[in-house]
Amino acid sequence: MNKDMGKNKLVLIAVIIGVICAAYFIYSNHNKKVVQEANPPVDRPSVEEEHLFPAPGKTVYQMSLYLDINTRSIYGTTILTTVNTSERILSDLVFTIYPDAFRQADSSPAPAPAYYAGFDAGWIDIDGIMINGKMAEYHKEGVSMQVIVPEPIKKGQDLRVEMKWRTRVPKAAYRFGYSDQVYMLGNFYPVLNVADRGGWLTTYNSAFGDPFCFHSADYLVGLNIPENYGMVSTGTVIERSAEDTGRQDYLIVAENARDFCLGIMYDYNGMYEYYDDLLITVVSPPGHEKQMESVLKQAADIIDYYSKTWGPYPYNEFKIAFVPMKGFHGMEYSGLIFLQDAFLGSTANQQRSEFILAHEIAHQWWYGVVGNDQIREPWLDEGLANWGAYKYLAGVRGKKITPPTEESVNLARELSDMYSTREYYHTAYTGGESFWFGLEEELGTEKVNRVLQRYYSDYQFRIANSSNLLDTIREEAGRDMEYYFNEWFY
Ligand SMILES: [Zn+2]
Repeated sequence: MNKDMGKNKLVLIAVIIGVICAAYFIYSNHNKKVVQEANPPVDRPSVEEEHLFPAPGKTVYQMSLYLDINTRSIYGTTILTTVNTSERILSDLVFTIYPDAFRQADSSPAPAPAYYAGFDAGWIDIDGIMINGKMAEYHKEGVSMQVIVPEPIKKGQDLRVEMKWRTRVPKAAYRFGYSDQVYMLGNFYPVLNVADRGGWLTTYNSAFGDPFCFHSADYLVGLNIPENYGMVSTGTVIERSAEDTGRQDYLIVAENARDFCLGIMYDYNGMYEYYDDLLITVVSPPGHEKQMESVLKQAADIIDYYSKTWGPYPYNEFKIAFVPMKGFHGMEYSGLIFLQDAFLGSTANQQRSEFILAHEIAHQWWYGVVGNDQIREPWLDEGLANWGAYKYLAGVRGKKITPPTEESVNLARELSDMYSTREYYHTAYTGGESFWFGLEEELGTEKVNRVLQRYYSDYQFRIANSSNLLDTIREEAGRDMEYYFNEWFY
């Protein structure tokens, strides 16, 4: 990407203005429309040999979403199509249903201050599931839902899951929640878990961290919202139309996305700019045009730096949404990040906010393109995101970095082995970034960059684990590295 292409005009658009109109929506008709416009999945060869399931490139989520602002609910239907690329006959399917983490106050991952109106429950209700045309039974446990397959799916057989659901968005200033007329919708729909040789990778609720591990998939999403609201999402809007009912329809496509995230907001401003073929958009509450402009430029610089250092950014859009979110400075999703709106304040620490921006953007490479199990190996994406942000600030902004004082951290720890947010940050973030600073001292920056370029191209749109990464390091180093690895994994 070359941001010197100059002629790009900064455009300020008022995304949302208007009055509230009453509306009625015939839900089932809308669903049909989306289904007919489905794209066939694209074949990508290497995948089948590896038995990834659900296989990236062969898995499509077609979703139809309807926002009801009166009940703060998303009425959704999903048609998930994939192929049994696993090595076994499938007699059940396991989904993550993250909204159910918000059912009860004592187990909600949102911190108490996020509940600005006292505890308010969020959840997802499933209205029926069909697998290959037959009704299927399911049971929920925590944030997992097991679906019994009526007729077991053989190897190589097509799989079609149809599901009707309703997600209730809690009044919570959180990455999944509603605050100040903003719907922050991360992980709001049922997602098919990953199956490997050992069976289903289960998800569990955790008060800290990002308890997710999903394969990339393609998304085709129809969204219906009141016309006075605006939206921002993963992927690209390919069609937008107003209904005469005071509502509007969007059709959104996202290929090879790790997840599908959505923000729906009232009275927001949007600003966007093209940097060559990449469209960067930032949305925020009104009155922050200067900050939006500078965030756009920073994001372009950051994406440019990572693209040159690690490998190209794979999508044609990137979006930033400033949202009223507590408990996080930022949160990464495919092609979209949420940033806490506190960064818009005049007292916000500029260097700190640029660090957070660079951290969240680095997740597009580490989490988005190269996936990892964020439950069992959170250091893989968090360590690289932090270290990458330091490298950007030093390399592009000329900021002096003081590498963290190294102390012994066991990186081989999963979320359930950690007992506090502090411990989680100490392991995944501080430990993770220290691993990379230390490796740079061992191998030099150039070799470390080569490691990451290779890791990025070898594992793109797949899930890598620590041993994949250590193998890549061994190969690029061309010498024994066990003395170094043993410091970090025990
Ligand atoms: Zn992070």
